[in-house]
Amino acid sequence: MDSASRHGEGEATRHMRTFAVTGSASGIGNAVYRRLLRSGATVIGVDRAGADVVADLSHPDGRRRALDGVGERAGSGLDGLVACAGLGPQVVPVETIAAVNFFGALAVVDGLLPLLQAGEMPAAVVIASNSATLTPPDADLLSSLLEDDESKALMRASTLDGATVYGMSKLALTRAVRRRAGAWGKAGVRLNAVAPGPVDTPLLAGGLDDPVLGPLIEALPVPLGRRATPEEIARAVGFLLDPANSYVHGSVLFVDGGSDALLRPDRI
Ligand code: NAD
Repeated sequence: MDSASRHGEGEATRHMRTFAVTGSASGIGNAVYRRLLRSGATVIGVDRAGADVVADLSHPDGRRRALDGVGERAGSGLDGLVACAGLGPQVVPVETIAAVNFFGALAVVDGLLPLLQAGEMPAAVVIASNSATLTPPDADLLSSLLEDDESKALMRASTLDGATVYGMSKLALTRAVRRRAGAWGKAGVRLNAVAPGPVDTPLLAGGLDDPVLGPLIEALPVPLGRRATPEEIARAVGFLLDPANSYVHGSVLFVDGGSDALLRPDRI
């Protein structure tokens, strides 16, 4: 076997692949869930309701329930994970946004690493956002998130507006993905992030309905001139999960119609 085939190219996957998807009941997560099901895989959906594993990722107990539920259904290993569950910037209390979008997401990602290591050509994808780079930073919240100090982070978040908490949670989550590139590479599990722009989902609809956030979301320039469908984001996730793309690791894939490039062309 040559090196390319060992690492995925042309590899016919013989075994039934198994994936876990959080946020599987709605929007992007649901599009990912359905896409994986259509491919013939076994897919374990995790959400607050309407999922194979019902768990609330805003609390340590719920995160434990999610890990246990996926573990019970996954059998010997997981071939892929998509951490998609999240709350929009309009949600109150605002600190819940950090609890779900950062601590809940990472608890699932880190907690499922052993099962992913037991999978075949495994990969995990975290759904971040282009808000990570486009939101004016709050240094205190960002540092307590990255220090993994949940009570300090939630305390700071409770003093801020939802857009800032959302943006900092996604920025910290994206950095957490990049910071794991070394350890996860050694563990043999690829880990990448997708940073969507506006996607037509209930989360975005909630933001657009908000009298303060709505006009801000509408004002974001998108070079492609439209919002994404959840399926367009699911296809990007599919690319990152695909064993054929076996050298893509530690990357952040902007799927935002070009907004980040338009607003920060030289930030690379
Ligand atoms: P959505 O509201 O349609 O779906 C989010 C799902 O996450 C829901 O099914 C919800 O029940 C689940 N969820 C929320 N809190 C949870 C909790 N405590 N425990 C378990 N599950 C929980 O939203 P979406 O737009 O599909 O969002 C999916 C991800 O994409 C989120 O992380 C979001 O931040 C990100 N994102 C969305 C957009 C957008 O414009 N829609 C843009 C960038 C990033």
